[in-house]
Amino acid sequence: MADKTFFIDTTRCTACRGCQIACKEWNQNPATTTKNRGSFQNPEDLSFLTYKLVRFSEVVSGGELRWYFFADQCRHCIEPPCKDIAESLGYKKAITKDAATGAVLFNQKVKVKPKDFEEIKESCPYNIPRYDAKQMAIAKCTMCIDRVSNGLLPACVKVCPTGTMNFGDRSQMLALADKRLKELKAEYPKAQLLNAEDVRTIFLVIDDSEKYYQYAKADGPVGVTRVAAMKKLIRPLVSIVGLKA
Ligand code: SF4
Ligand code: SF4
Repeated sequence: MADKTFFIDTTRCTACRGCQIACKEWNQNPATTTKNRGSFQNPEDLSFLTYKLVRFSEVVSGGELRWYFFADQCRHCIEPPCKDIAESLGYKKAITKDAATGAVLFNQKVKVKPKDFEEIKESCPYNIPRYDAKQMAIAKCTMCIDRVSNGLLPACVKVCPTGTMNFGDRSQMLALADKRLKELKAEYPKAQLLNAEDVRTIFLVIDDSEKYYQYAKADGPVGVTRVAAMKKLIRPLVSIVGLKA
């Protein structure tokens, strides 16, 4: 099976939230209690039980009022910093990368201490991982690995009625994303693909990324973190002298 990638064309999204519901259904994650916060974004944020969330943002751009929708989820980073940090903290099997698809997977059977989870979360440039203190487990989008490894589309892609959610071999998705970007550039000079080289969930937006969502785009290259690299280096020395990292 070839390396897989999502391509999310936000210009086609109508915020129907079919993807969000399909994700809940397939993962058997129950609905959560919410309240009216003056926005159609519901629930307020990703959680241990919500892996996919359509974010709503009202902005004034070019003198007009626009509504930007951002179907947020894990980017399945090519060099995932969350995995790197988890390993540096001694959790060898908490986060793995599927060899066939490239999906980044969290193993909920591995118990993670709260303070270690905070480090893992901080390493994610997209603010994705979520935690359940009772189970000491972390959760996020699984790329519907059980569906994909059986030749099916991820549930969110399967139900999307507008062509916003796309999924397939990485080379095909990159070609589709480039084609769509070229089509939009003339009308929207700020159109861009977000961190396309570094992630397996590529978003296409037509404006500054922060107008969609604070964590829509990583500031720099996504990969091995300095902290994780240091910990890997220091850990053997620390164990020799019998101290705790
Ligand atoms: S199903 Fe498609 S159109 Fe509907 S909210 Fe999700 S990405 Fe947007
Ligand atoms: S987006 Fe965050 S949680 Fe997902 S693979 Fe990248 S670093 Fe890990």
